Amino acid sequence: MPTDPVLVVHGGAWAIPDDVVDAHIRGVTNALAAGWRVLERGGSSLDAVEEAVVIMEDDETFDAGRGSFLNRDGKVQLDALIMDGATLRAGGVGCVEHLRNPVRAARKILSESPHVYFVGEGAEKFAAEHGIPLCKNEDLVIPREVERLRQYQSEAAQRDLSQSDSGQVGKELFAPAADDPTISLDTVGAVALDRDGNIAAATSTGGTLNKAPGRLGDSSLIGCGCYADNESAAASTTGWGEPIMKLVLAKWTADRIAAGNLPEWAAQEAMSYLKQRVNGHGGIIVLNREGHIGIAHNTPRMAWAYRTFKKQDAGIVRES
Ligand code: ASP
Repeated sequence: MPTDPVLVVHGGAWAIPDDVVDAHIRGVTNALAAGWRVLERGGSSLDAVEEAVVIMEDDETFDAGRGSFLNRDGKVQLDALIMDGATLRAGGVGCVEHLRNPVRAARKILSESPHVYFVGEGAEKFAAEHGIPLCKNEDLVIPREVERLRQYQSEAAQRDLSQSDSGQVGKELFAPAADDPTISLDTVGAVALDRDGNIAAATSTGGTLNKAPGRLGDSSLIGCGCYADNESAAASTTGWGEPIMKLVLAKWTADRIAAGNLPEWAAQEAMSYLKQRVNGHGGIIVLNREGHIGIAHNTPRMAWAYRTFKKQDAGIVRES
């Protein structure tokens, strides 16, 4: 018997100021519509999460694709992962600088490569060889982010100066404060269940503001920012990547569901664990094969949306 499809998307977890709330809700709602079109006509969960994420990569509201945060050198450097819960096949790209839609390259890796993960130039070469056009890095950079980086670096320089005045020396100039909530914001992700009962997940990000070139976050690492296994759950996380990585949080959450817990509970637990164990902040969306969903965040807000045949909803705060 065919399963009723379900789709959940997120567009980052942080304080989301009032003036960009509408853009976030619009963005996740558009992504939901694109992914749902795939599921509705009987398409796969893998295609649905890819299409949903592409819409958010193309939307400058989010820290994915064009309009992403800039690294310390003023460049966009993108990471993405997509995973198929039916086969456990996965495709990931890290530190790519010339791809508008890194999730498309990740999908090609999943479908057409014996490997799971490509980084930097090798990833771009693979993408180009598989028909994905490359772009200039400048095509991904927008004025809002140039200004954001300028402001961040000048404030950091002031901080460093005042610290050296007070005798605290040896700090790397412009190094992001490890627990600064303004540096990890608008990563995007999706999890889906299709009519055949298969689940999939995808996550895409520009990473953290002012990151060191070559820094890879949690988003594109299997089990950290993204995971899918029909025997447990599909999950996509967002937030400060380093703590999420240390806990392998997407897999941690999926394991709780495999042990018999509901996604709603597991998502909440994941956020408490993230905070308690490593003082991390972020959000998570989770879905199992029965169509149960979990959406949770330990930040003030998170952009989320979900759809089933019976219901559709979107918001920026998820009450437990
Ligand atoms: N997790 C991402 C990273 O650390 C950032 C985010 O989710 O906003 O690269």
